[in-house]
Amino acid sequence: MDKFTVLRQYFGHTAFRPGQEMLVDAILSGQDALGIMPTGGGKSICYQVPALLLPGMTLVVSPLISLMKDQVAALEAVGIPAAFLNSSQGMEESRQVWSGVRQGTYRLLYVAPERLENQRFAELMAEREIGLIAVDEAHCISQWGQDFRPSYLKIADFVSSLPRRPVMAAFTATATGQVREDIVQRLLLRDPQRVVTGFDRPNLYFDVQRPQKKLAALATLLEQRREKSGIIYCATRAGVERVCLELGSLGFSTARYHAGLEEEERRENQDDFQFDRKQIMVATNAFGMGIDKSNVSFVIHYNMPKNLESYYQEAGRAGRDGEPADCILLYGPGDVATARILIDRGGSSGPDAEGFQRQLDMQRLQAMVDYCKTAECFRSRILDYFGQEHPDRCGNCGNCRGIFSEMDVTVPAQMILSCIRRVKGLLGYYVGAALIVQVLRGSHGHRIKELGLDGLTTYGLMREESQERIRAYLDCLEAKGYIFTDPDYATLRLTSQAGNVLFHGETVAMRSRVERQSASLEKRKREIPAVAGQGLLSALKAERTRLARQEGVPPYIIFSNAVLADMAGRSPRTMEEFLEVSGVGQIKAERYGECFLAVIAEYFNTAGNFTIN
Ligand code: ADP
Ligand code: MG
Ligand code: ZN
Repeated sequence: MDKFTVLRQYFGHTAFRPGQEMLVDAILSGQDALGIMPTGGGKSICYQVPALLLPGMTLVVSPLISLMKDQVAALEAVGIPAAFLNSSQGMEESRQVWSGVRQGTYRLLYVAPERLENQRFAELMAEREIGLIAVDEAHCISQWGQDFRPSYLKIADFVSSLPRRPVMAAFTATATGQVREDIVQRLLLRDPQRVVTGFDRPNLYFDVQRPQKKLAALATLLEQRREKSGIIYCATRAGVERVCLELGSLGFSTARYHAGLEEEERRENQDDFQFDRKQIMVATNAFGMGIDKSNVSFVIHYNMPKNLESYYQEAGRAGRDGEPADCILLYGPGDVATARILIDRGGSSGPDAEGFQRQLDMQRLQAMVDYCKTAECFRSRILDYFGQEHPDRCGNCGNCRGIFSEMDVTVPAQMILSCIRRVKGLLGYYVGAALIVQVLRGSHGHRIKELGLDGLTTYGLMREESQERIRAYLDCLEAKGYIFTDPDYATLRLTSQAGNVLFHGETVAMRSRVERQSASLEKRKREIPAVAGQGLLSALKAERTRLARQEGVPPYIIFSNAVLADMAGRSPRTMEEFLEVSGVGQIKAERYGECFLAVIAEYFNTAGNFTIN
């Protein structure tokens, strides 16, 4: 067998994606490899295909129990013998796996990094032939990364304890150069073939909305996605509880997930979501890395995350099946303060936690805030951040599809800048945006009185403007560089440019979005092939649900939505045609072909359903 046959027969894919083939080739030729691909980019294939072609077993180091379980289930479903060893297993189960390993039953064995420190395990591995060690989520080895796991540092020791060094391959979605170098150095990779694929995920639609009432906006977004499955991320546990409660009372099918819940409940809720028993997962960022669910069709952030790395990783859990999906961030001014608190509380995650690390965190936060406030293409912002070339406009994000109007805001700009200047003049220090807005709107709050701000000439100058409107002006002024937010004190400061507007007649124009509806919904409606008929797709989904129940696996383990959509489009009538469907390999065709072909035949035999090909 060659790599193409493996790809086709087992995984049912017709071609490698960009980058996959280079990594597979390197590994097969005995060279180490480092694969950097976005979430959903298809990293697993890069070591799973070689695992079937190399002599011996492939050992996969993976950080999360749920992830292993899922991957092994997916491999078994396509007829590849695989197993995992972790702490969730009972004695009997793990004994079976051990004896399977001794007998050479498995092509792939998944383990948590802690396992490598186990003496007995190391001895067993030394006896077996290991062709490849694949380190998944390899950024866990770096203190610069998001999810540092000290036990990843022990991988190199384990490898050097083996009588023969296997090929090593490491994979991650983390893009920064620092993390990449850390991976190469700490894993002792030898002249690895490095492949960095594009980070763009064209099927994801990005948008930021700035609603006055987040809950109402959220409910509307969910209302538009009644039949869809998605994740809602909140910044705090309390946020998860509140949002979950509210949505429940509105009749949405929700599950919750955060670190404050008992392990048991977390697992149950995660399963409810994975198995499509609950449609919406409301969670903190504790929910995530283990999620390989491919049919997540939206990720809504109820709060802004701490940085774009986290945002892109979390948002990237949408649309892994390649179908159009939405990533929407609901931004509110309070989010910045929350993020700052989380950074300060999270603290000691890296070297020199106090100074340097915090500064780094604050810079990242600023880039995140800029993203939320930009009137330019959202995707461009993200790709810029990850250092990737891109066209100016993507055409598939809220700003590219939004309708903008431009107006002259020189007068309000002068009022605001002058107010900031006068408050500073009176108090001797700069204050935060909230207080500036209060002064401009002529608030009677006690702090205003206390500080004597109601005596300023700018007090109450913008009485008629709403709070949101003034915030929008502030954002515009910040984006244009007239003011900036001091990251340490969250105060608004004037830049030297402000003088141009205040004293030298410079005019200010503001571009603002008129319409902030998600455009992708309509686009999607148009894109669904009318020919195949939604009726057939629903019938195929129903069959998938039935089979999933019968086998006790999540539906996407049987076939992803993308596969079913392709199946509906092709409407295969014979087993050969069935094998043509993208994502259908030999084993799955044997296992499920008859069932699905029967559904298709039945559909077309029913009066009124015609193929139009
Ligand atoms: P990652 O680990 O990089 O986040 P996965 O390995 O989980 O991504 O793959 C994501 C999805 O892409 C899976 O549904 C997988 O079936 C699909 N996929 C991977 N490689 C290919 C390919 N060559 N052709 C079509 N689909 C692919
Ligand atoms: Mg993966
Ligand atoms: Zn765009």
